[in-house]
Amino acid sequence: MAAKETILVVEDEEKIAEVLKSYLEREGFSVATAKDGEEALRLYATLSPVLVLLDLMLPKRSGEEVCREIRARGNTPVIMLTAKTEENSILGGLAIGADDYVTKPFSPRQVVARVHAVLRRAGTAQTEPLRFDGGFLTIDTTARTVMRDGTLVTLTPSEYSILVALATNPKRTFTRDELIHLALKDDFEGYDRVIDTHMKNLRQKIEPDAKQPRYLLTVHGVGYRFGGGAT
Ligand code: CA
Repeated sequence: MAAKETILVVEDEEKIAEVLKSYLEREGFSVATAKDGEEALRLYATLSPVLVLLDLMLPKRSGEEVCREIRARGNTPVIMLTAKTEENSILGGLAIGADDYVTKPFSPRQVVARVHAVLRRAGTAQTEPLRFDGGFLTIDTTARTVMRDGTLVTLTPSEYSILVALATNPKRTFTRDELIHLALKDDFEGYDRVIDTHMKNLRQKIEPDAKQPRYLLTVHGVGYRFGGGAT
């Protein structure tokens, strides 16, 4: 068996850190914990973790600062742990390069699921392009390009982020809120409508028939999910 992959949990609330550690260890990860931002960066440098779970409100260095430092050093996925009231911080964190976030209070199981999803997504960044319907739709996350029926499609960064999030998590329904955080970073205006507009534009760009979407499906009352199997 390969050496265990290390996850760094940065959290000053000991109870939360302990719970996450035990759940992640049960999943086969090796887990290191840091109680403040300085310790986090020290451990990050020595352990080369595959992923960092990062609390925002930390002693010594803030979660944002830690995230920015990690981003300056490489592509290690970062999932932020935030209180729901810290919405501005969530958006700020995503803007400085966090890959995902979980709001407190969370269930440890939910965090574990996110960890797997983010690692899967990070993994696809170095591998083959995603192909759907025999290559009708092709998403190359390394080159950051999308082809529809052999033709390069020009997407805005927001449209691209939404499409990749949906296509790499085909069973998951994303709420509009989640898509907002993924797509809009620090743009706060016109939430739900903005996502619907992005979807409309995306459908026109990538669907065989935008009026009868096959990839970007509406889940009524909730949000959107990806349809269509990879080939
Ligand atoms: Ca904290």
